[in-house]
Amino acid sequence: MYAKVIVDISNDELDRIFDYSVGELSLEPGCRVMVPFGVRQIEGYVIDLTDHTDFAPEKIKPIARRMDAYPVITAEMLSLMRYMCDRYHLRVIDALRLFIPTQMRNGKVKELSKKLVSLNGDIQDVDELIRPSASGQKAAIDYVRQKGEVSLTEINSTCSAASVRNLIARNILVVRDAVVMRSPYVNLSADNKSVTLTEDQQAVVNAVLSAENKTFLLHGVTGSGKTEVYMHCIAKVLSQGKSAIMLVPEISLTPQVLSSFRARFGARVALLHSGLSAGERFDEWRRLITGEAVVAIGARSAVFAPLKNVGIIIIDEEHDGSYTSESKPRYVTSEIAEFRKNYNGCNIILGSATPSIESYYKAKKGEYTLLELKNRVNKRPLPDISIINMCDEVLKGNNGVFSAKLEDELYKCIESGNQAIIFINRRGYSSYVMCKSCGYVAKCEQCDVSLVYHKEENALKCHYCGNRYKMLTACPKCGSEHIKRGFLGTEQVAEKLKQMFPNENVLRMDNDTTQNKNSHLSILSEFASKRAKILVGTQMIAKGHDFPDVTLVGIVDADMSLHFNDYRSVERTYQLITQVSGRAGRDKKPGKVVLQTYSPHHYAYRFATTGDYKLFYNKECNLREVTMFPPFTKIVRTLIVGENETQVRDAVAGVYEKIKALASGDNRFVFLSCMWAPMKLIKNQKRAQVLMRILPEFDDVSKIYKIADEYKTNKVNVVVEINPNDLS
Ligand code: ADP
Ligand code: ZN
Ligand code: ZN
Repeated sequence: MYAKVIVDISNDELDRIFDYSVGELSLEPGCRVMVPFGVRQIEGYVIDLTDHTDFAPEKIKPIARRMDAYPVITAEMLSLMRYMCDRYHLRVIDALRLFIPTQMRNGKVKELSKKLVSLNGDIQDVDELIRPSASGQKAAIDYVRQKGEVSLTEINSTCSAASVRNLIARNILVVRDAVVMRSPYVNLSADNKSVTLTEDQQAVVNAVLSAENKTFLLHGVTGSGKTEVYMHCIAKVLSQGKSAIMLVPEISLTPQVLSSFRARFGARVALLHSGLSAGERFDEWRRLITGEAVVAIGARSAVFAPLKNVGIIIIDEEHDGSYTSESKPRYVTSEIAEFRKNYNGCNIILGSATPSIESYYKAKKGEYTLLELKNRVNKRPLPDISIINMCDEVLKGNNGVFSAKLEDELYKCIESGNQAIIFINRRGYSSYVMCKSCGYVAKCEQCDVSLVYHKEENALKCHYCGNRYKMLTACPKCGSEHIKRGFLGTEQVAEKLKQMFPNENVLRMDNDTTQNKNSHLSILSEFASKRAKILVGTQMIAKGHDFPDVTLVGIVDADMSLHFNDYRSVERTYQLITQVSGRAGRDKKPGKVVLQTYSPHHYAYRFATTGDYKLFYNKECNLREVTMFPPFTKIVRTLIVGENETQVRDAVAGVYEKIKALASGDNRFVFLSCMWAPMKLIKNQKRAQVLMRILPEFDDVSKIYKIADEYKTNKVNVVVEINPNDLS
């Protein structure tokens, strides 16, 4: 018997199958094994077993050993691996590595075991064996008796360690090794509210549960109770003995989702995301693969949860950009979900208050089944949005952060004991630093982007590479001391709020204040406890939060994402405005939103104000059709990156010629051009691109991958991106 093995080294030359002999080992496909490789031993994965090999049998080495009690890659994941390699042009090992916790490879994390102490059950009368004077032993016995079973560390720290040692030696106390699971966020708690579904919610649940192998797009306004719908569907699926996957864009930002799932499903829930410690991640993963936990909840990578018999896959906030993996290995979460849906014959729910144009287009074409929740639970009204033209404010002599209207609403809100959320689309104190005399803008030396001023550190930072620079005191170009800090950021807004409300706590949530693992949670729970009435933040505060006392949402500078150089910038702005606004008035008190903009007549704002997604969709979709952007085409970019400008230039020219030949006479190519990337330099690497827009009928992307591979060297990297989120 021979095993086909993929070795755990990511390298183009080694991206193939190696044959080993199985010998006496008992193996199945998906097992992790240790194999001799050159002069050393390395880890690998058995992907198949056969009786046949193309190599001379005497040349074949035996597998050294099997590493785990169970196959770590399930049969489903083995076929997913083949699908992903084909579709995304991945190395096999890069696909496999997505399926298991990183730290498990090469034994960097192990099971945690503890010594547990209990009374020896065979002894009739323990007290008889203890001398009356041995008070230490007596105390230890009492302690164990009270607890039943206790860890050795605990009893040694509460009782006399010498007495404990003595009792163990005399076999009065017995010790056993037990594997313990490290559980993330155990202290998160919530009440298990038992909820009767509204008629609308029930209709959605019924539609999903009566279907098979279908993808639903659930368009439900903010606060329409989508989470409750998900939990009902999952409960049903579990009662049929199946498992469930629940994806959220960023779990550390939505601890509420996790706590309500914990409350409803208890220990059957496992959490997978990158913010966990290696041990926690490993243990949660193990609880899933052994079937101890049957609901996987997490960010995009949880779509690879090692569950068997998947009964439903839910992708909440499906429009969110984080569902596309932009760095290697690239993949699209909804496509992986589709694969697993087809494999298991289960259903998918894509949920959002602001579906992506592409998903809604698929729903219109019948590829997805559209379900709607048009009203908030208990018919609570959507918040009332006022658009404030900031140009008028400037004309009136108001150069401040807030319009008169927003200031007024803030005072009213806080004075009446409610809470406010102030949203700002950017982190740092001000987005750029400019010389007022000559127009010089401070830029990163290694990246072609402007630096951002951080007041707390009085430093300039590059948000692409993280480099820090000293704040300018004078312009390096003309020497002028009139340095202007550009737009404002969270820090400046928080400062202004503290001036307005000296007696209130103002919380700030952005990349700078959330560097620690638990900082998201502590900021959010501080706000939930109402010890702070005002929360200022970036995109992080836009997502799924449900704070009943928030009656005011202020959007300080709505335009920031509108003028981004990207075909999706209007869509993103619409989504963001709707999501942030949706934080207001979710409970009994109605909510208000004040949106400040310099483009008050833009259709993104007009439709966000009336909450009319369908009108927005029609307008945006028409535009895309006329200009030939997705979903009417796919954008394919071949990005060429390298240190040496000439090498990059040569490679991009070569790639361009080849693609031009491929596209010649093919009218499915509607756009093809070759240029420097918008960010010509990042981390000292020159970047050039061949950009294409191709009709969806063209599915021969493998030809483009092949051309890219031809120009890849160890000096120049060539990457093919399909519909990337970030075209910088
Ligand atoms: P969405 O995800 O659609 O924005 P949520 O799922 O967060 O909305 O629900 C909004 C609020 O309504 C939550 O506080 C939730 O507990 C509550 N809720 C949901 N369904 C019901 C129901 N059937 N009856 C009463 N309250 C509900
Ligand atoms: Zn200057
Ligand atoms: Zn930089």
